[in-house]
Amino acid sequence: MEIIDGKALAKRIRENLKNDVDELRSQGRNPKLAVILVGNDSASQIYVRNKSKACNEVGIEFEEILLEENTTMEELLGIIDNLNERKDITGILLQSPIPKHLDINEAFRRIAPEKDVDGFNPVNVGKLCLNQDTFVSCTPYGIMKMLEAYNIDPRGKHAVIIGRSNIVGKPMALSLLNKDATVTICHSKTQNLKEITKQADILVAAIGKKHFVTADMVKDGAVVIDVGINRTEEGLFGDVDFENVKEKASFITPVPGGVGPMTIAMLLNNVVKAMSL
Ligand code: NDP
Repeated sequence: MEIIDGKALAKRIRENLKNDVDELRSQGRNPKLAVILVGNDSASQIYVRNKSKACNEVGIEFEEILLEENTTMEELLGIIDNLNERKDITGILLQSPIPKHLDINEAFRRIAPEKDVDGFNPVNVGKLCLNQDTFVSCTPYGIMKMLEAYNIDPRGKHAVIIGRSNIVGKPMALSLLNKDATVTICHSKTQNLKEITKQADILVAAIGKKHFVTADMVKDGAVVIDVGINRTEEGLFGDVDFENVKEKASFITPVPGGVGPMTIAMLLNNVVKAMSL
């Protein structure tokens, strides 16, 4: 069994990106990410701080736009329009969740596709569906990079994804399908889940429930990717019962230190990519 070291891989990717950014800056082209944060969600504040730090490290400029909890949809769309127009802004990210009175899908639709570094605009989602080059949601994109780095070719493999969210499950399924995996997507209404997960050559857990995936759900030799981030008083846990599942897996990602660091590295990657559009 090999533990997939997302932290080390993300570090290497960031180092390469720093070289790319240095090169761009020497030509007077400065990549800049704008992040919109609406309201006071404490987890979101931590995520935005981490993104700011990561941008800083590779030389990507960062602008944080903090909006009050009671911001109207009109105000939010006006701010997105302004960022779309601004020549100095390379990428735009709207941190989710946003307050319930706002329509996040309408906001994602408004972000210009060529600045949509999170890959949530329907134009970019459509391109992913059509297997065209585009911005891919950072978490699935990071997972594909991890598989590539560890020479795990999805072609012909049965990939099972637990979770069908727009930000992880669905783009993950499309990404694996685009690489010729046979893909099954499971969710809360799936029956006989264990029978399906036991067939998985590649099993991706994106549920949001601590240690949901137990050893009896995993085939011997499976590649197990744990997307979950579950914060409890005892610490941070994934969706996979790592200690027991690792005995069966051929490769497995830890939490922390697996998918999480790769997600941020891919965001930086997408900002640099946006410079060339
Ligand atoms: P969502 O809550 O949007 O989606 C969870 C999915 O899990 C849903 O599709 C849901 O099914 C499914 N599910 C819930 N319960 C069950 C069950 N009992 N059996 C089978 N399926 C079930 O979460 P996200 O996709 O946004 O995130 C998933 C996890 O990944 C979270 O822990 C999140 O924090 C983490 N995450 C980590 C990132 C990283 O960088 N490491 C980035 C993004 C997310 P249904 O659709 O039927 O409700």
